[in-house]
Amino acid sequence: MNVLLLGSGGREHALAWRLAQSPRLGKLFAAPGNPGIAAHAECVDLVPTDQRGVIDFCLRNSIGLVVIGPEAPLVAGLADNLRTMGIAAFGPGSDAARLEGSKGFTKDLCAREDIPTAGYARVTSLAGARAALTDFGWPVVLKADGLAAGKGVTIAMNPQEAEAALTALFDHPGAEAVIEEFLTGEEASLFVLTDGTTLMPFGSAQDHKRVGDGDTGPNTGGMGAYSPAPVLTPALEQAAIDQIVRPTVEALARAGTPYSGVLYAGLMLTNTGPKLIEYNCRFGDPECQVLMLRFEDDLLELLLATAEGRLGDLPPPRFADATALTVVMAANGYPGTPELGGAIEGIAAAEASGARVFQAGTRTEGDTLVATSGRVLAVTASGATVTQAQAAAYRAVDAIAFPTGFARRDIGWREVEREAD
Ligand code: ATP
Repeated sequence: MNVLLLGSGGREHALAWRLAQSPRLGKLFAAPGNPGIAAHAECVDLVPTDQRGVIDFCLRNSIGLVVIGPEAPLVAGLADNLRTMGIAAFGPGSDAARLEGSKGFTKDLCAREDIPTAGYARVTSLAGARAALTDFGWPVVLKADGLAAGKGVTIAMNPQEAEAALTALFDHPGAEAVIEEFLTGEEASLFVLTDGTTLMPFGSAQDHKRVGDGDTGPNTGGMGAYSPAPVLTPALEQAAIDQIVRPTVEALARAGTPYSGVLYAGLMLTNTGPKLIEYNCRFGDPECQVLMLRFEDDLLELLLATAEGRLGDLPPPRFADATALTVVMAANGYPGTPELGGAIEGIAAAEASGARVFQAGTRTEGDTLVATSGRVLAVTASGATVTQAQAAAYRAVDAIAFPTGFARRDIGWREVEREAD
């Protein structure tokens, strides 16, 4: 079967690597892809949000499955339009993708289904937001309603910070926002594949959103992750599936907009149990890289079964017990304006130690690999413990010469501290 993978990040490099190992694969195409993905797929010059172009390509190249990596084409309805044309797609339709595309939609669904999450108010004006704030304590969480690539959230410590954040949020017409109660606890991510009926747990991870060591500095798309996340114990995972994920999937099915794809639940493990912080409607980046390193089955068969509504026929996926840990190497300046064009060397040396280097923002210039965006590489390794996986990943990071880039040096620190106890 021919497969088209959409996206160009480290997430898609990891998916391409695993898809390429499937005995069912005919030809793998990636759009637009990157030099790392090009080792496993033919990269084609197509923009994932160009729905007409994607559909035409699929029809011309007998594509049997489209794997949609990023959220924007999902929220825009690409999966629906592919299905209408009879082309199987991995990823939810636009109605179900509102779980990620609209925070207000998700909060209302949680309220209706009694799903544990932070208390909230939806607001559509600065005056309404000021009034609603009086119902909340401090700190308070302020979120833009739509997709904001992780940059639409402010945790305001006092009225001055809240006023500044709300003024910025309502600076453009039609803005909507959600005000949320601040939850305390440790965060963990849970991944579940579903075809709208069957739920198939697909592992856990913990990511590191802040740019600096010790979780300092601004938020990023993610500076590193590890999987599994032992803090999400089997009992907590079951509670999250029973109280959060299953009621969500059932509610969407009842509404006639069944969810198909991977549902990524961002959880806060509070002292009263797991609460939902957010849903994403795709694999996380860099969480996907650690999940794929541990995954031991036929990815194409699993994603196709999800897309075709036959997940219930498959056994649970197998994962290696070992921990996988990934360290993102980013261009200096990220998450602000990254320094682009810097040369990268030493990937082969890093992989010689057993690590895998997934590429994100890279391009080849002659024989040289150069950085083209903020997050550049995801250096991924495994180990019997998080401490060992961390050591292996940083050995590989240290084999890479990327003078205009940087990495956090403490990915996995929470679990490393617990393992030391
Ligand atoms: P992304 O998709 O990049 O994860 P996002 O824009 O969808 O980000 P959220 O995940 O909802 O935003 O929030 C970003 C971060 O803010 C969370 O990972 C969490 O650390 C913090 N946060 C969000 N909501 C709350 C809350 N109610 N209480 C405490 N912290 C929160």
